[in-house]
Amino acid sequence: MESHQKGELLPLINKQNHNYDYDLVVIGGGSGGLAASKLAADLGAKVAVCDFVQPTPKGTTWGLGGTCVNVGCIPKKLMHQAAILGHSLKDSRDFGWTTPDGVTHDWSKMVEGIQSHIGSLNWGYRVALRNKKVDYVNAYATFVDAHTLHTVDRRGKEKAITADKFLIATGGRPRYPDIPGAKEYCITSDDIFSLPHSPGKTLLVGASYIALECAGFLAGLGYDTTVMVRSILLRGFDQGIAERIGTYMEQNGVKFIRGAVPTSIEQIEEGSPGKYRVKSTTNEGEEIEEEYNTVVLAIGRDPCTSSLGLEKINVELAKSGKVIVDKGERTSVPHVYAIGDVIEGGLELTPVAIQAGKLLAKRLYGNGTLLTDYVNVPTTVFTPLEYGCCGLSEEEAIAKYGEDDIEVYHGNFIPLEYTVPHRPENDCYAKLICVSSENEKVVGFHVLSPNAGEITQGFSIGLKLGATKADFDNLIGIHPTVAEVFTTLNVTKKSGGDVSAQGC
Ligand code: FAD
Ligand code: NDP
Repeated sequence: MESHQKGELLPLINKQNHNYDYDLVVIGGGSGGLAASKLAADLGAKVAVCDFVQPTPKGTTWGLGGTCVNVGCIPKKLMHQAAILGHSLKDSRDFGWTTPDGVTHDWSKMVEGIQSHIGSLNWGYRVALRNKKVDYVNAYATFVDAHTLHTVDRRGKEKAITADKFLIATGGRPRYPDIPGAKEYCITSDDIFSLPHSPGKTLLVGASYIALECAGFLAGLGYDTTVMVRSILLRGFDQGIAERIGTYMEQNGVKFIRGAVPTSIEQIEEGSPGKYRVKSTTNEGEEIEEEYNTVVLAIGRDPCTSSLGLEKINVELAKSGKVIVDKGERTSVPHVYAIGDVIEGGLELTPVAIQAGKLLAKRLYGNGTLLTDYVNVPTTVFTPLEYGCCGLSEEEAIAKYGEDDIEVYHGNFIPLEYTVPHRPENDCYAKLICVSSENEKVVGFHVLSPNAGEITQGFSIGLKLGATKADFDNLIGIHPTVAEVFTTLNVTKKSGGDVSAQGC
C-alpha cells in the first residue's frame, strides 16, 4: 500500500526484464503518440518519443504535437471561427449593433494569433513529457533492426536507440499529384495555416473534408474561392447532406468546378501572393484555364511509412502504405504496434488516435483489456454550416439493411438566432436513420447546422447505447436550441411529407 501511495508499485511490477534503452519507444509525437507515451510512463514504463517534422516543399515546419495541433484541427477550427465572426458581424446590425460598413479582415493578424496559441501548445507538450519523465527525441527515426532505431536530428547528429517495444504513430502527410508545378507552386493544409500573407484568389483541389473546410473559411473571410471537384463531394459521407453542403457553400460565395482535375500549374507572377495559371481537364475532355493567387492541394494524405525502414523488420503494409494491425493494434511483428492515421482501416481523427494510444498503453503496462471501439465514432465537418454525424449514412444503411427496413425521419429547421437577421429558413437539416425491424433503433444521426459538432457529441452516446426513435421522442427538448429538433422529428422520407422549417 505504501509503494502504491508513493506511485512506486506499478513501476516495480512493470519493471521489464531486458537490456534495451527503453521499454517503449514511440515514433511520432502527434495525438496518438503523445497520449500513449504519457500514459505508458505513468504506468511505470521507461519511454521515449521520437518526433521530427520534415519541412514541406515550401519550407514550412512546426513544433511538437503532430498534425492536429499544428496543421489540422486546431488552426482549422480557429479559422472557421474567424469566418463565423464575419458572418455574425453582419447579423449583428439586425440585432442593433451599429458596426460600420467596410469592416475588413487582417489575415496576418489572424495567423499571428493562431500561431501564438499553437506555440503555447507546443511548449505545453514538451513540459508535459518532461514532467512525465518521457524522453523527447527531436529526431527522425528509422528502424535498423527489430529492436534498434537510427535517429538523425536537425543538425545531422545520429544516434541509435534500442527498445523492448515500439509504437508507430507517424500519421500522414498531404499527397501531391504528379503534374507540372504541383510541388513548386502549390501549397497544402501543411502551409495554409501559417501563410504569412493573405492568399488572395484561391483554388482548392479536392472535395473532401480538408478542401471544403478550407474553402468555407476562405470564402467566409472574403476571398474569391473555387473548389475543383473530381467526382463527388465528401466521398463516404451521406450524399444527400454532402449536396446540401455544396448548395449552401455555393449560395455563400464558393464557386465549384465539377468533374475536373488540374493538369499543370505555371507561375505568371512572383509575389506574396504570386499569380499562377492553372490548366485543367474536365471529364468530357474540355480544357479549362484560370489564374489564381494561391492553389491549395487537398487530394488526400499518404501515411508516413515509406522511409521508416519497416521493410527491414518485416512490418506488413497494406496497398495504401498503411500499417496492418489486429484488433489490439499489434502489427505483423509482435513487439511493434501502430495507432492513429497510419493504420489501415482506422479513422483519421484525433480523438480516435488518442483513445487508441491510451487503451494500448493500459493493455501493455496497466493490465487493461479494453480495445478501441471504431464503431459509431462521431465526427464533424467544419464547413460554414457544420455537418455532424454518427453511425451510418443513408447509403450505408440501405446497403446494410435494405431500403424496406429503413425509416428515415428528417426535417429542415431554422435556428432562432437566424430569424432576426432573416437568414434563409431551410438551410439547416436534421435526419435520423432507423431500422424498422429492430424497434426503430437509430443507426444514423446527421445534423447540418451551426455548432453541429457540439450537438453530435452529446447525441452520439445515444447511438452507442442503442437508442431507438422512441427514446429520442421520449427525450424532452431544451428550448430554444437547435438540438431539440431531434426530439420532435416526425416526418418520414417515405411519406414524402413537407419538411420545411416550422416556427417555434
Ligand atoms: P500525427 O498527429 O500526424 O503525428 C505524427 C507525428 O509523427 C508528426 O509530428 C510527424 O512529423 C511525426 N513523424 C512521422 N514520421 C516520423 C519519423 N520517422 N520519425 C519521427 N517522427 C516522425 N481530426 C479531428 O478529429 N478533427 C478535426 O477537426 C480534424 N481536422 C483536420 C484538419 C486538417 C487540415 C487535417 C490535415 C487533419 C485533421 N484532422 C482532424 C485529423 C487529425 O489531425 C489526425 O487524425 C491526427 O492528428 C492523427 O494523429 P496521429 O497521432 O496518428 O498522427
Ligand atoms: P480524402 O482522402 O478524404 O479526400 C481526397 C479528395 O481529393 C477527394 O475528394 C478525392 O476525390 C480528391 N482527389 C483525389 N485525388 C485527386 C486528384 N488526383 N485530382 C483531383 N482530386 C483528387 O482526403 P482529405 O485530404 O480531405 O482528408 C484526409 C483525412 O483527414 C480525412 O479522411 C479525415 O479523416 C481527416 N480529416 C478530418 C477532419 C475532421 O474531423 N473535421 C477534417 C479534415 C481532415 P474522389 O472522391 O474523386 O476520389
